[in-house]
Amino acid sequence: MQTFALRLVLVSTPIGYVGSGKGGGVELTISSLIKGLLELGHEVVLVAPEGSVLPSGCSRAEIVYVSGRDQPSWQHLPDDAPVTIAQDAVISRLWEKALELGKRADAVINFGYDWLPIWLTPRVEVDLFHLISMGGVSRVMRTLIGELSQANHSRLAFHTHSQASDFQLSKAPFVVGNGFDLDDYQFQISPGGPLGWAGRVAPEKGLEDAVAVASALGDQLLVWGLKEDLEYAKKVEASYPSGTIEWRGFLPTDEFQRELGLCRALLNTPKWNEAYGNVVVEAMACGVPVVTYDRGGPGENIISGSTGWLVPPDDIHGMKEATSRIGEIDRRKCRNWVEQYASQKGFAIRVEEWIKAGGKSQKIINDSRK
Ligand code: UDP
Repeated sequence: MQTFALRLVLVSTPIGYVGSGKGGGVELTISSLIKGLLELGHEVVLVAPEGSVLPSGCSRAEIVYVSGRDQPSWQHLPDDAPVTIAQDAVISRLWEKALELGKRADAVINFGYDWLPIWLTPRVEVDLFHLISMGGVSRVMRTLIGELSQANHSRLAFHTHSQASDFQLSKAPFVVGNGFDLDDYQFQISPGGPLGWAGRVAPEKGLEDAVAVASALGDQLLVWGLKEDLEYAKKVEASYPSGTIEWRGFLPTDEFQRELGLCRALLNTPKWNEAYGNVVVEAMACGVPVVTYDRGGPGENIISGSTGWLVPPDDIHGMKEATSRIGEIDRRKCRNWVEQYASQKGFAIRVEEWIKAGGKSQKIINDSRK
């Protein structure tokens, strides 16, 4: 089958540089998509905040750096918060560059959950696409995404159906899931290790529930991730017997997966409509079953009784009971699920299909097939 190389401009999140951990799962999503798109033969330029670092498999991608002040994260603002863009905001510079580079590209793909790029979409010649990274965490964003769906639905993609259900869309959502470089995650068969939790340490991630479960089981909880909200981290720690949490820090993927893979279970406790939940799938890639709430992406991606256990949202007692039955899960099924549904290549192919179906590239491809 003939393939048609695209020139793609990817625009990173305006919260932190890639590798800082401040951007959450988006950082890994970008790296893995770049690797996947390069492997499919596409040309990739990433526009990203200064300091961004991509893994070695991305060396053929060009990076264009910009500087400026981070955006506030929408999920930590009131639902009716207005849009704010500071005079020296990195988002303005990201999009100045992206629009310039986009004139010579087939498509520009946005990874930031922000007003500016979505608002620009019907107002510029460049074909802008948006991989939405969160649920409907603010009124401005819910409204704008709904409006874009009415005007140009094909420019939007989502990680899961659950996430997309937060928005009033004009048609069925284009769901691309996510993808991981399986070579970066080592399958570990060890069934008897500690309990783990991973993610940005912030209220929407519900760390307190996982600590409650570990404490009720008389266990320690290993915690990986960036302490985004220090006050919250302190409060959670102080609410349980000292030593219940072992803070492991924010680690690069190779170290993170090595430690994570030793766990007997990952406890995942989203308090929001988690868009995907990278850490859930990374744990499975290492063979670690997941006990999580039946909510958002994790509720869609975990097969209860096969790759972990789903419990009703916020049911700490249910999570404790399910955790004590983790030995019933065959760790190989976890890894198999990721290989089947969340490979880097599969993700890149789904994104390629979305872009090819939705923009100017469609015209180029049709023309070149004549
Ligand atoms: N992560 C990491 N090192 C750590 C802990 C977490 O690199 O020590 C990364 C992890 O790989 C994942 C991200 O942090 O990509 C968290 O993303 P997730 O989708 O789970 O949640 P988000 O932060 O996007 O809400």
